[in-house]
Amino acid sequence: MPSSLAKLPTRLPSIDTLLRHPASLPLIERYGRDAVLASLRQLLDDLRDDARLGRLAAAELAAPVLLGRAGERLIAQHRSQVRRVFNLTGTVLHTNLGRALLPEQAIDAVQRAARYPLNLEFDLASGKRGDRDDLIEGLIRELTGAEAVTVVNNNAAAVLLALNSLGARKEGIISRGELIEIGGAFRIPDIMARAGVKLHEVGTTNRTHARDYEAAISPRSGLLMRVHCSNYSIQGFTTQVPTAELAQLAHRHDLPLLEDLGSGSLLDLTRWGLPAEPTVRQALADGADIVTFSGDKLLGGPQAGIIVGRKDLIARIKKNPLKRALRVDKLTLAALEAVLGLYRNPDQLAEHLPSLRLLTRPQADILQQAERLLPALAHQLGEQWTVSAERALGMIGSGSQPVARLPSAALCMRAQVSKRLRGRSLHALEAALRALPIPVLGRIDDDALWLDLRQLDDEAAWLAQLPQVQV
Ligand SMILES: *Cc1c(COP(=O)(O)O)cnc(C)c1O
Repeated sequence: MPSSLAKLPTRLPSIDTLLRHPASLPLIERYGRDAVLASLRQLLDDLRDDARLGRLAAAELAAPVLLGRAGERLIAQHRSQVRRVFNLTGTVLHTNLGRALLPEQAIDAVQRAARYPLNLEFDLASGKRGDRDDLIEGLIRELTGAEAVTVVNNNAAAVLLALNSLGARKEGIISRGELIEIGGAFRIPDIMARAGVKLHEVGTTNRTHARDYEAAISPRSGLLMRVHCSNYSIQGFTTQVPTAELAQLAHRHDLPLLEDLGSGSLLDLTRWGLPAEPTVRQALADGADIVTFSGDKLLGGPQAGIIVGRKDLIARIKKNPLKRALRVDKLTLAALEAVLGLYRNPDQLAEHLPSLRLLTRPQADILQQAERLLPALAHQLGEQWTVSAERALGMIGSGSQPVARLPSAALCMRAQVSKRLRGRSLHALEAALRALPIPVLGRIDDDALWLDLRQLDDEAAWLAQLPQVQV
């Protein structure tokens, strides 16, 4: 063996030496002495074998180099777990990616509510204790025509609370076609059971008639329930009793009709070329006594569950001790008020409300963006990949309009390798994009990775990290 390859053990510096080095001071100041000590111990442990076998050059063991490496590890350990991502999946209101993005007005309102004391439950006119629902009740009544309003943590909580307040120990009558599941944890029959309401299902999966409800009504009945089938659609030989007729039927028997709209909408979305979604105002006008809907689906606000309807029923809901357990915090109320405020001027809504702006972005616009970004991406990925700008179909998401598709455009990447290796290459590229400082999330479909650009606002940030993609 030539002597130049002889493996001489190298000595690691001591922890003490490293901690006394001036380069350790900024680390200690930032992370604390204990964390720096632990990080250095770990680093030296990791290097011990290589040092013993002579695999390390003296330069690699200089104190500033080692402290630099410990610093990198500390940065990684202290990085926030709540990470911003690029949602290029094509699903706009993506439940796993935080649903609606808030408008600037709501972000300002949240900041103010976070920074200063506020009249959360304090009536400034009388100087007496107030009710947090009062802060948004007037606005929601104005926008929906409701008599009264209360707000809880999300729509699942709204449904649970309304059912428990109005139907506990009684029967809730509901069509078999509406016994839906919304994401594993929320199933109407389970929520009814937890609310203490006995499920009385009527009709069939595809057809339920007024006479089915009528036949089910008895002294044990507590309420009629209607659930908007937001995340699936039954087509073909179907019948559903219109809300107006169902409400009349309920009222003839002195029972309330609860309608869970799911997403619901405050305005008719067809005005922006989007698929029709039932509006809260219409459900109430049709006679639903209580209507529940989400704050962060099509409404475009913070996570919340909004309960609107008859004053006497809302009063019963608010008296339920569960309301206290499910109530919203001040940040949510601040954001919600600001978002609702934008609805007062529908003409400007698509400009100010990010979810509506993104949902209505024209395909031609997105396609142009894809063509603009294509050369940079193709250059970075090299000859192993074919990159193209293609028309694509996105979705609203959050269970809204499951069959509707949004005409969009995407950067589409296909691996130029044998069919056998294609799947692996695709998953490696998907993982590389996910590992970026701002993870880029797309979708794999038809042997290609698609980045739907409908939601790519911050092009500069996206481009800036492109050179870090390693495949
Ligand atoms: C989404 C949805 C819910 C649950 O609402 P969250 O705000 O996610 O809690 C309940 N019912 C229907 C019909 C829905 O679409």
